[in-house]
Amino acid sequence: MEVAILGCYAATPTTSHRPTSQVLSIGNHLFLIDCGEGTQTQLRRQKIKFSRIKHIFISHLHGDHFYGLIGLIATFGLLDRKTPLHIYGPKGIKEIITLQLKLSKSWTGFPLYFHELEQKTPEIIFQDDKVSVETIPLDHRVYTNGFLFKEALGDRKLLIDKVDEYQIDVAYYKSIKKGKDVPDNNGNLIANKLLTAPPPPPKSYAFCSDTAFKPTLAEQLKNVSVLYHEATFLERHKHLCEKTKHATAKQAATLAKMAAVKKLILGHYSTRYGNIEVFKQEAQQVFPEVLLAEDGKKFKFD
Ligand SMILES: [Zn+2]
Repeated sequence: MEVAILGCYAATPTTSHRPTSQVLSIGNHLFLIDCGEGTQTQLRRQKIKFSRIKHIFISHLHGDHFYGLIGLIATFGLLDRKTPLHIYGPKGIKEIITLQLKLSKSWTGFPLYFHELEQKTPEIIFQDDKVSVETIPLDHRVYTNGFLFKEALGDRKLLIDKVDEYQIDVAYYKSIKKGKDVPDNNGNLIANKLLTAPPPPPKSYAFCSDTAFKPTLAEQLKNVSVLYHEATFLERHKHLCEKTKHATAKQAATLAKMAAVKKLILGHYSTRYGNIEVFKQEAQQVFPEVLLAEDGKKFKFD
């Protein structure tokens, strides 16, 4: 599992700060999460192949989370894309995008599917045999969802010395990995647990931006491998959180601790602070495993 941070700052883009966008690599997919201005140049900078992006998840309709989307769709069109593109986002996103395509007379040459969201409780919005994605309803000034990406439980691990020892025919290997008991060369049924080890624990990634501190999320986020949570402010500006429905670094860390996640990534920083290390220092007073998102940074989780 790998996360490439394309942009991770709040509000307006500057020469050194880009608004929210990231690419999650999980279960053979490249999922684009949010699409602030500058997303396509950042994709190019990180050498991420445009054609591999088939699913885009938009948290909410504030500009710093989706103003790059129409540009990216137009570029896909210019690149003569044929692969379908699925966009998941709040109700209204279809109208916003199609109006621009219509008035610029630039309908795409590839199928564009909108999956509009309006439910206020978690729902599964994508699932295949490798990964599932569910919404994380957040608390912000407009309707907002985070997204929880979960790997499916993989195959059991074949113990090659054991299958040799029990003289199992190679034709059964696939069934063994699926957890089946299989016969040896003499027709005796061999228990699967003698031939395999459990699969590695599935990884999960929760994206939570933008949101006020929402302690009730702890239940849905219980034990996730990595939580990305916004930390727009520090505690000394907590009063701004109430008005703008954002969170502080300490609040993000508190949720990470409550949910017993393995790692916390902070992002969506207000540019008022200059040095982002202060966010880490504040969060680590509550929860030690803190990483700082930075534009252009990649995190790999084994
Ligand atoms: Zn917002």
